[in-house]
Amino acid sequence: MADFKCEACNKMLNLEIFLKNFKVCHYCGHHYMLDAKTRVSYLVDEFTFNEIAANIKPIDFLNFVDIKPYKDRIIESQQNTGISEAMITGCARIGGYEVNLGVMDFRFMGGSMGSVAGEKVRQITDLAISNRFPLILVCASGGARMQEGIISLMQMAKTVSAINKVKENKIPYISVITNPTTGGVSASFASIADIIIAEPEALFCFAGPRVVKQTIKKELPLDFGLSERNLKNGQIDMIIARKDLKSIITKLLKLFSDR
Ligand SMILES: [Zn+2]
Repeated sequence: MADFKCEACNKMLNLEIFLKNFKVCHYCGHHYMLDAKTRVSYLVDEFTFNEIAANIKPIDFLNFVDIKPYKDRIIESQQNTGISEAMITGCARIGGYEVNLGVMDFRFMGGSMGSVAGEKVRQITDLAISNRFPLILVCASGGARMQEGIISLMQMAKTVSAINKVKENKIPYISVITNPTTGGVSASFASIADIIIAEPEALFCFAGPRVVKQTIKKELPLDFGLSERNLKNGQIDMIIARKDLKSIITKLLKLFSDR
């Protein structure tokens, strides 16, 4: 792949430098979207990620058709992304500390949360309760998966209830908000972590700016829903640049750990 123009600042980016910089523009600091596997590789100690629940696959139980059948969308997304659903979960080590990890992938149907993502969250929380290692969920989602109708909305209640059990068991839970995290995910497990970290300029809101603007018929602030405004308003705890994410999470894990 050759050099390319930054989608945010239009400057020419050297691919090698861009990749070394964790897919962040070294001119303007724009954080490019990451697929789940790349995110895992940036975050965890090398060769320590062991995936769980990889065999849970989506089912089209409503025989749903919008422009295309849901069945076809699933197959297309699986072929394009090489993963079976919009979230991967597993155990890993970060800075030497054991964690339970879930990472969403926006490329898979906009990171939408259907029954599989909900069940994966439940299984990783169950695992956290049994092994007592901290839970980290990296979010990237447009919201609930409309092709699963009411079942996808139920995942909000299911994931919140699963996280509540983690809290009752006094196991630390960190959520990492990446661009974009909206809809049903922002309104469920993403927002109820002990520590909420966001990448710079990540959109984190329930309804996106376009929808809100159309509804209230007013101009919105330019930073509507972005990390910087969310930090000011107390919606998130910290903004961490991608290059520092692993070291900051390691520090937090050290605080939570007894060693
Ligand atoms: Zn740029």
